[in-house]
Amino acid sequence: MAIDLRSDTVTRPSPVMRQAMAVAEVGDDVYGEDPTVRQLEQRAAELVGLEAGLFVPSGTMSNLVAVMTHLHPGDELYAEAEAHVLYYEQGGCARVAGAMPHPILGVAGRFSGDDLRRHVRPADLHFPRPGLVAVENTHNRSGGEVWTVEETEDVLRAARELGLATHLDGARLFNAAVALEVPAQALASGFDSVSICLSKGLGAPVGSVLLGSRSFIAQARRNRKVVGGGMRQAGILAAGGLAALTDGVGRLAEDHRHAAQLADGLDALPGLSVAPVRHRTNMVMVDVTAPAPLWVERLRPRGVLVNAVGPNRLRLVTHLDVSQADVAEALAAFAELAKEAAAWS
Ligand SMILES: *Cc1c(COP(=O)(O)O)cnc(C)c1O
Repeated sequence: MAIDLRSDTVTRPSPVMRQAMAVAEVGDDVYGEDPTVRQLEQRAAELVGLEAGLFVPSGTMSNLVAVMTHLHPGDELYAEAEAHVLYYEQGGCARVAGAMPHPILGVAGRFSGDDLRRHVRPADLHFPRPGLVAVENTHNRSGGEVWTVEETEDVLRAARELGLATHLDGARLFNAAVALEVPAQALASGFDSVSICLSKGLGAPVGSVLLGSRSFIAQARRNRKVVGGGMRQAGILAAGGLAALTDGVGRLAEDHRHAAQLADGLDALPGLSVAPVRHRTNMVMVDVTAPAPLWVERLRPRGVLVNAVGPNRLRLVTHLDVSQADVAEALAAFAELAKEAAAWS
């Protein structure tokens, strides 16, 4: 089987996870009667330190429902310019939730409390109402870069002063917590809402959980229904999510080690340069002098799958289906191709 480094979403459920899904107790979750979904929502809420949770089919829906719940149409949503919520979600925040996107040019996906203060304008008839600021930790487009506890608190402090609601897109929150060796609550509990993905590095086949106060989640439950996210015997999926929370977090450090090995190995090759990060999580961004699509095309027959995320940039993501041996094999394929890549045009 190919060594699939395109994304941490490509993982397949383990036999243990499939077994848990097969025997899951279920009910109609739209009626609030699925015990496994409830268990997952409670467990996720405890892990991030918020009151309540809502199981949703995807991280995209989780962010969308969060924006719908926090904002009225026309209110401003502040986020880093390349944050997933602005960059990768078809503009759903504007198109469906009616939010006015306000991008903040950050550094490696981060911005400061003062950056936010500079962007938020005073109350004035001409301006949209300031509404919500979103933080993404880890930050996907910058190669899995981490926001530290201090950086997070700095922005949360500014948001409180400015009267903004706060949302954490924590699709890879546990990667950040593991890289910083802090509990997830330290990065999450100050936010009004938090979204976590179960289907990325944690290894579940489907699902995200949106977390917040009980009243926020009650309203979010209504909004999930209107976008078609009310699911029935969803306990089968939630059981996979519970297994992911139980078994997935503890092994993320291994993914980070593998990513660091890939980064070191690739950076040493001619014509490749790895974008530096302060904390290596499970992603590696590689700048290549030869066109990135050619790299993608020529690695494929060698059994190595990667994504091009720019004309001269590749993204590699490690996950539970990438072994130590796979890392070595992928590096060997890159080394082989690097010898000829200078001649590609
Ligand atoms: C993947 C991702 C999402 C969306 O999750 P889907 O389940 O793919 O819709 C949201 N935010 C970030 C940072 C992500 O990486």
